Amino acid sequence: MPIYEYLCKDCGVRFEILRSIKDADSPAPCKSCQSDHTQRTLSVFFAQSGSQIVAGGSASGCAGCTSGSCSTCNTN
Ligand SMILES: [Zn+2]
Repeated sequence: MPIYEYLCKDCGVRFEILRSIKDADSPAPCKSCQSDHTQRTLSVFFAQSGSQIVAGGSASGCAGCTSGSCSTCNTN
């Protein structure tokens, strides 16, 4: 299950949430102020796994995921 990083627009706090891919685009409540005004940002998880995919081959998914189950792959 991937880790997503969110940025709170109200208090500016960045926080990470481990959640399923289908919930990735739904708002995540801020861990600091509980605001729903949060925006998903590119997480470290994807930056690291992206380079691994390039090295290991991408037969099962796009460049942005490890298992062919990211939002880009799901459009196929
Ligand atoms: Zn907040």
